[in-house]
Amino acid sequence: MILVKLLKKIKIKKVLNFGTIFFGVNIFILFLAFYRNESQRFMPDEYKLVQKIFNKISLNNDLGDRPISITIRAGEGMHYVLGGLGLGICEGKDNFCHYYVNLNPFIRFMGFRAADVNYAIRQSYLLGFPGAVAYPSGTIAIDRSTFRVFKGKEGFIASVIAHEMNHILGFSSFEASLETLKLSLDNNKSKKELDGVYLNKFQLAEAEADRGGALMIYSSGYPKDTYLKAIELTYKATGIIHSEKQSEKHPDYISRLKLIKEFMDGASFKRKKIENHSAPLSWEYNRNGNWLKFYPNSK
Ligand SMILES: [Zn+2]
Repeated sequence: MILVKLLKKIKIKKVLNFGTIFFGVNIFILFLAFYRNESQRFMPDEYKLVQKIFNKISLNNDLGDRPISITIRAGEGMHYVLGGLGLGICEGKDNFCHYYVNLNPFIRFMGFRAADVNYAIRQSYLLGFPGAVAYPSGTIAIDRSTFRVFKGKEGFIASVIAHEMNHILGFSSFEASLETLKLSLDNNKSKKELDGVYLNKFQLAEAEADRGGALMIYSSGYPKDTYLKAIELTYKATGIIHSEKQSEKHPDYISRLKLIKEFMDGASFKRKKIENHSAPLSWEYNRNGNWLKFYPNSK
């Protein structure tokens, strides 16, 4: 009788022990998943490099007062790879496929035609060009292929970032659009003429972002001609630069380089210590959301 009682006790204890371990392991896995999602220690190398660059830039530049998000995306290569497959995705010149271009390249895509889309993500990385875009809302999207093309050239990736950061700081799209709006109210211009005016204004904003970017990079401690060399290699790595589409928003390659060189030779291109820098930045990362975000130090 005592033996039966003892066995029963041991069994209950075993079940209890097993339950505790099972519960504990589950809690641990859940905790690990949350930790991994937000841990900057486990970020992809590309994000670690972006963080390192922004920390360096912030030491001697004013990055404004808004939080800025950075996302590394599958990239523009997706448009060309998917568009040629006859899947009905990204087809047609005027149908730019933002959805696929902006996909997270660090996880497997699970949606429509997943196998083809995952293959396109790999190809875009291997065959794609350097590229990035700034959203006025405070987000910079960088094509993952940029990191492959500029591997080992931190200053060049910093140049891409500085260019986009200057678009955000200068509200480029808004300013170009405001100028166009003013003209449209004063004159009876056709839509085509106004589109032309906007493009022209945006080209001026591009030249402004180049000047701001070149100075931002130099002020951060990178060698003087880093920005210029980065622009040069961007075009060389892209290959075809004479088509109209290439020079639609930016000034053409020759004019663009000339404008940057002229600015670099001018008196305002000086590295000086500034008081209102944005360091130290506070960082947040979200693996599932595929973004890294910083808050500039409030002055
Ligand atoms: Zn630009």
